[in-house]
Amino acid sequence: MIWSIDHPDHGPMDLIYADPRRFGFIDLLDQIEDSPYLKGLGPEPLGNQFNAQMLADAFRSKKAPVKAALLDQRVVAGLGNIYVAEALFRAHILPTVMALSLVTKDGHPKPALEALARAVVAVLTEAIQVGGSTLKDFRNAEGGSGYFQHSFAVYDRADQRCPTPECTGTISRIVQSGRSSFFCPVCQKQP
Ligand SMILES: [Zn+2]
Repeated sequence: MIWSIDHPDHGPMDLIYADPRRFGFIDLLDQIEDSPYLKGLGPEPLGNQFNAQMLADAFRSKKAPVKAALLDQRVVAGLGNIYVAEALFRAHILPTVMALSLVTKDGHPKPALEALARAVVAVLTEAIQVGGSTLKDFRNAEGGSGYFQHSFAVYDRADQRCPTPECTGTISRIVQSGRSSFFCPVCQKQP
């Protein structure tokens, strides 16, 4: 779908919306705060409010696996299946671990949760630098494709060797809440 718009600073432009997986929609608002869809969203993972303590506050009452907790948009906004898999891999945490188990009794993040918060930021920052992850027919504004999909460590790599140096594991795939989880059963652990 293409909208021709008249941008106040840049003049006439085309706004192109391609949604091959049909997860998205467009809403027109005067004020972004008016959107019912944005109310209750958690912080942006690359924003100032995102950190290990904020995750600990969200996780301490969560009776759900850490993977589901990270995909919950009320906890963190905008983290998808691919980056959750990559972040859990980097932090050496199994996706099946209970979110609650990453928090100390007095509500502080355990070291593994601090590693996970750092991994989320690192994975997203790298993904943005290389142009995002994309479906095959993705094109950015310059007409190029995204590249991060070529450098996933675990996502969509079932039965391949784990890329962690000196790890002898093989990447596994399981289904959690209807979504694929990819992980190394050797170097990802219950912290
Ligand atoms: Zn491994």
